[in-house]
Amino acid sequence: MPQLSERVQTFTDSVIRRMTRICNQYDAINLSQGFPDCPPPKALTDRLAEVAQDGPHQYAITFGAKNFRDAAARKNTPRLGHPVDPEREILITCGSTEAMMSAMMTVCNPGDKVAVFSPFYENYGADAILSGAQPVFIPLVPPDYHFDIQKVEEAFEQGAKALILCNPSNPCGKVFTQEELTALADVVKRYDAFVITDEVYEHMVYPPQEHICMASLPGMWEHTITCNSLSKTYSITGWRLGWLIAPEHVVECAKKVHDFLTVGAPAPLQEAAAVGLDFPESYYDELLRDYTAKRDFFCTGLDRAGIRHNVPQGTYFVMVDIQPYLDKPQFAGWTDMQFCEWMIREIGVAAVPGSSFFREPVNHLIRLHFAREQAVLEEAVRRLSRLSEL
Ligand code: GLN
Repeated sequence: MPQLSERVQTFTDSVIRRMTRICNQYDAINLSQGFPDCPPPKALTDRLAEVAQDGPHQYAITFGAKNFRDAAARKNTPRLGHPVDPEREILITCGSTEAMMSAMMTVCNPGDKVAVFSPFYENYGADAILSGAQPVFIPLVPPDYHFDIQKVEEAFEQGAKALILCNPSNPCGKVFTQEELTALADVVKRYDAFVITDEVYEHMVYPPQEHICMASLPGMWEHTITCNSLSKTYSITGWRLGWLIAPEHVVECAKKVHDFLTVGAPAPLQEAAAVGLDFPESYYDELLRDYTAKRDFFCTGLDRAGIRHNVPQGTYFVMVDIQPYLDKPQFAGWTDMQFCEWMIREIGVAAVPGSSFFREPVNHLIRLHFAREQAVLEEAVRRLSRLSEL
């Protein structure tokens, strides 16, 4: 048998996406892979219908269609506190997934280290391996997901070139405070390193928490690569649109990675989605109101069912503590994966086993999401309440 690369032997397929496939086999309610089930804003789908007739249907400029880049730069300028130059400081990518991968390949040589908070969104582990980097994990300690700045310092002492930061954080729903971000920024600046941020849940931050872009902190523009996507903000996860924003010399290199990796994000979808980037702030206020209502409904439902969980400060994910069930004789010795498979079959709800997010040996947490319509959430809560009968 011809040999395959060692690189791809060192990680598994995505557990998140595997859970969706298992869920579909049993026709369960999918609260595993986090994507919204509400339609995109009508302005985007109306524009898409026009684009279907009028085009463009061929490649956009490799680093993003001009009107899309201009609109993304306008949207981000106030958030990042920096006048983003649409010609030099932004790269349009196939989702934040490609933006993060391109950022890692731009920053890392094979053998370099990157600091990654654990739990982490599983892509970052694979991104590190594919870019040849070695992750150094820094625990975010449940239940409140705090971290020890000394551990961050140690990661950089060991030579980490970048910190991977997901803020708000998937899967644990943590929103980093100004104080925490400032402490991280101080270390990163001292070691002349980078922060690579994934901010795809920036519009799902529940008051009193606020989302602060790392790049907006004093002196951090030069040290930050900001990745984001339209997936969650406009309910278009399948359109695969996102961006990477950074200083010119960084974007210059990231453009080369992107050019040879994907050539470009889909041109017709850039054209249709560009209208969303100019929506007024009221659009984002309404999005937040909707998700706040979903979060409150879902968390209250879990409370009524006696299910132990965290209350996320941001994102649409909830971590549920399954230890009380694992302590029952019928589940003795089970892994969280076995429990999730059982839950799909017997309870009819799909979750993601927490172990796929943690570097540490954590087996008692599973991740559920609430980006579903009210009737689906009601049915999911009804089904989950059967856990109390165990
Ligand atoms: N970010 C989402 C999640 O964590 C979707 C992941 C994906 O499949 N791209 O569930």
